[in-house]
Amino acid sequence: MRTGIFFYYQEGNRLRDFPNALEGILERENVFFYDAFYPSKPTSSFDLNPVSYEALLQVHSSEMIEEVTRTGVFEGALLSASGTVRAAEKIWRGEIDNAFVFTGYGDHHAGPDFFGGGCYFNGAAIAIQELRKGSGVRRFAIIDTDAHHGDGTWEIFGTDPDVLYVCFCGYPSWEEKGNINIEVPQRVKDEEYLRLIKEDFLTRVKTFQPEILFWNWGYDGTQGEYGDIGLTPEVHILLGRELKKIADEVSKGRFVIVLCGGSRRDLAHYLIPKIIEVLAEVELPKHRGCVVIGSRGGRGSRVPNL
Ligand SMILES: [Zn+2]
Ligand SMILES: [Zn+2]
Repeated sequence: MRTGIFFYYQEGNRLRDFPNALEGILERENVFFYDAFYPSKPTSSFDLNPVSYEALLQVHSSEMIEEVTRTGVFEGALLSASGTVRAAEKIWRGEIDNAFVFTGYGDHHAGPDFFGGGCYFNGAAIAIQELRKGSGVRRFAIIDTDAHHGDGTWEIFGTDPDVLYVCFCGYPSWEEKGNINIEVPQRVKDEEYLRLIKEDFLTRVKTFQPEILFWNWGYDGTQGEYGDIGLTPEVHILLGRELKKIADEVSKGRFVIVLCGGSRRDLAHYLIPKIIEVLAEVELPKHRGCVVIGSRGGRGSRVPNL
C-alpha cells in the first residue's frame, strides 16, 4: 500500500509533536509526505495547491465563503480542506492508495451556508464534488465517528443518493435517503461501539459499493476528551483496521482518513502514528508507547469543539 500523509501544521497544542512523531514511518518507501504549511517553511515550498474558489462554491454559498474570509482563519481552513481534496485526487489518479489528512480546521459542521464548531470548509464534500466533476467518480461513502453530529455533511448530502453518509453520534437513529444517523449511547464500551459500527456501517457499505471511502475520524469521544463517551484509545486503532479492510474489499483500497475532533496532545501522539501504520501496513513493534489516561494535554489548545 502506498500511503500519502497530507500535513497541515496546526498552531496550538494538539499537533505539537508532529511531524517528528512520525519518525520511522516517513522513512518508509511506501509513505509519501505532502506538507501544506508550517511556520518554519517558506510559502514558496508548499507541496499542496489550495483548492480554487470555484471548488469551494460547489459546496458552500458565496455569502458563507465571504464570512469565512472575515474569521481570520481562512488560509488554515482552505489548506485543511485542500489536503483532503488533493489526497482524494492522488488516490483516484493511482499515485497513492490511501491517505491520512492532518487538518487544522474540520469538516463536518460546515454545511452549504453555515459553519461552526471549529469547521469552516467541508473538505470531504469538496473532494467528492471535485472527483465527480473532474474524474467521473460516481459513488462515495463517508463514515463519521467524531463524537458530535455532522450537521454540515448531513445537510450537504441529504438528497444525494450517490453518497452514503453514516454518522455515529449522540443524536437519535434516523435515516434519510443516503444519510444515516446511528445513535451511540452517552457511555459506551469499546465492544459495543465496534459492534454498532460493524452492524450499521460495514454491512451497508458492502451493499453500497462506494468507489472511495472517507473517514471523518475524531477522537474526541475518548476518555478524558471534551466529548468523552467512554471509549479507550485502542478502539480507534481497531476501528481503523476494520475500515481499512472494508476499503480494500469494496473500494480497491481507496481510503481517506480526515483528522477531526480531539484536543489532547498525548492522544494525538499515540494514535495518529498507529492509524497511519494501519494504512501503510507497517508491522507494529511491540510496546511502541503508551498513553496516560486522564492527563489534559489539550488544555490551552486552539482546537475547538469539532
Ligand atoms: Zn450524527
Ligand atoms: Zn466532535
